[in-house]
Formats: sequence, structure tokens, C-alpha cells
Amino acid sequence: MRSTKAFIYKKNFEHNLSEIKKALKPETKICLAVKADAYGHNAVLAAKEAESLGVEFLAVATVDEGIELRENGIKANILLLSLCTPPEMHELFEFNITPLVFSKAYIKALSDEADRYFTSKSEEFSVHLAVDTGMGRIGCYSSEAAEEARLISSSSHLKLGGMITHFALSDGVSDSAQDYTRMQYEDFVKAVESVKACGINPGICSCGSSAALMTHPEMHFDMVRPGIIAYGYYPDEVTKEYLSSRGVHIDLKPVLSFETEVVAIRPFPKGKSVSYGRTWISDKDTDIAVLPVGYADGLLRRFSPGSQVTINGRKYPVVGRICMDQCMVDIGKNNPDVKLWDRVVIFGPEESGALCTAEDYASLGKTISYEVLTSLSKRVVRYEFPESNSSTSETR
Ligand SMILES: *Cc1c(COP(=O)(O)O)cnc(C)c1O
Repeated sequence: MRSTKAFIYKKNFEHNLSEIKKALKPETKICLAVKADAYGHNAVLAAKEAESLGVEFLAVATVDEGIELRENGIKANILLLSLCTPPEMHELFEFNITPLVFSKAYIKALSDEADRYFTSKSEEFSVHLAVDTGMGRIGCYSSEAAEEARLISSSSHLKLGGMITHFALSDGVSDSAQDYTRMQYEDFVKAVESVKACGINPGICSCGSSAALMTHPEMHFDMVRPGIIAYGYYPDEVTKEYLSSRGVHIDLKPVLSFETEVVAIRPFPKGKSVSYGRTWISDKDTDIAVLPVGYADGLLRRFSPGSQVTINGRKYPVVGRICMDQCMVDIGKNNPDVKLWDRVVIFGPEESGALCTAEDYASLGKTISYEVLTSLSKRVVRYEFPESNSSTSETR
């Protein structure tokens, strides 16, 4: 077992999901985003756990991500949030992955593939119609929704199972951001109504991801699509502050700890430099701890200077440039609290002993916790915490 690894605190994941459920009406469905290997948390582990907690839909970004879930016994509905191309379409049918569709060309291509795949006339395959109400990414305009729904319904095997839109500013809390979200929501309602007006059942309608789920409970529709909050982080600091100012409290606990061990402690005289570019030079005699973790693991180069790791309950600064596979920490001269092979926590939940979170690293790297979490590479094996008999190391 390599010392640089990640632990998945399943209890915290369960806790976050129950916090999400508390914010919903009992009949509102959850579509949990497990794309990008569940934001770096191991998609199969997250999906199994979510399924056992009654989550009905899981969202992936690629067909391969969906196949991985099916091959590991996941039975829940799987929604494909990004578009695939015709050569992948037969796998949607084979593995029962529900695609988002829009545009005549895409619906026609899918319908043609379905005609080739399904032998029996009665077989129906559910798709969700994507409506672009202002995200500017995928989806038809609301004015086109009825026509596209008709196209779906008139194909031999496709069936409209739902409608979906995505907010561009749901993590914005200014008045103008709220207005934009409301405009998007109303546009989506219009699209849904226009489909109903044609006598077509719009199916399961969803619009809100983590941020809107918390800030706009009136927009939950039939299903919400949380991602980041299930893994223990607010979409951003602004949303967190906005919610607390309105007395909304959703208690989130980080799920993943990113850890390593001290593999060397070296005395450093004043004036000696650390790492490439000699960006850090010690201004006094000190000791430097070497950690076997670098940017190829996901400890991004831009996290230094500034990042701190926790060793035995105290924070120490990473100094000099972070290398591909290693980095160095200034632990101070003859520090009795840090010994060779001691455990080091980069970020994680409180229980892991971490004093920093992925959010702290995100603000340091001028990014969001999503990017910090999804940057953890394949080399960082994920283990369940507490460890069970079966290792949950990556399934690929
Ligand atoms: C990723 C994604 C989500 C989940 O987003 P979070 O901000 O992590 O909650 C929901 N819907 C769509 C369409 C997405 O792409």
C-alpha cells in the first residue's frame, strides 16, 4: 500500500445525503452526480452507497462511466449528462443508460440506432429532453421543445422520460443572478407546458444542481441533481454565506481525505534552497520533511507557495515548487512532533485529522473544490474508511 492515498469516509457521505433529503419534499427524486469518478471519490463506491440509501438516479458524463457502474452491479437509472456520438449509441441501449437529447440530428441518429438495436417493436427506450434556458451549453430552446418532444414520441423506440435544464448562475446570489435563474426556471416551465399541451407526458423534470437545490427550494420540480454537496462541499463560499444569512443550515462534511507520509527529514542550513527554480531559500537553520506526493497525484503545482499540510495536529507549510512526485515541507529545527514515517494529511474531514479542506486548497489555487477533488489522479488509490474486507481501490 503506497503511503500517498485517499480515504473515503462513507459515514460523511451518508450524512450529506441525509442532509440533502431533509431539504427536499419526500416525493422529490434525487439524481446524484457521480461523474468524473464521483468527483474523485470512486464512482462505484458512491453509487452503491447512494443506491442503498434510495437514490433513484445517478448522473455520469460519459458512456464509459455508465458502463463501469452497470458492470459493477448498479441497477439505478443512469443519466448521461453530456452528448455522445453515433458509434457509442448502441452501448446506451445495451447498458440501459438514459441520454440527454436535443436537436433533430441527434434525435434522428439515436432513433436510427435504436431501430437497428431493438428487434421487438414494443421495446421503449427512455430519453430526457435537454432545454437550454440560458446556460448556453446543450439543449434546444424552449420554443423548440414541443416539436422535439413530438419527434421523440414519433420514433419507434424512443420515449420521453424526462426534461432537463441547467442553471448558469445558481451559485450567484446577487439580485441580478437571482433574476436570471428565475428567468431560466420560467423558461423551463414554459417548455414543459408546451410539451404537455401537445398531449405528451414530459416525464421526470429536473433543473437544480447543488446550489439551486439549496437556494431555490421552489424550483425542485420532480428531481434535483446534487453533486458537490454530497461530497461535503458548498458550491462556493458565496452560496454558503448567503444560506447562513438566511438561516438555512445544511451541515456538510467532507468525504475524502488525501494523505501521505513523511519519507525523509533533512537538516537544512540557512541559505539552502528547496526544489526547482530555487524559489524558496531557508532564512534560518531548519529541517525539511520530504513527502512522496506531487502534482501528478493532484497536489497541483499552483498550490505552492501557500499550502499547508497537517502532521500530528499542526499545520506546516509546503515550501519551494511542488514537483511531479514529491514536495517538501518546512517543519522547523529539531521538531519533536514530526518523525520519520509520520502520517500527513493534505486535506480532508475533521475526523481525518486534517486542518485544511479541499476548499482551502481551491481558494489558494484560484479555483473551486470541484477541480481540486477531480484532480486527484489514478495513482492515488481510494480506500473505504473504516477499511472493510474488500478494498475499494479503483475498479479500472
Ligand atoms: C455536474 C452537474 C450537476 C451537479 O452539479 P453540482 O454543482 O456538483 O451539484 C447537475 N446537473 C448537471 C447537468 C451537471 O452537469
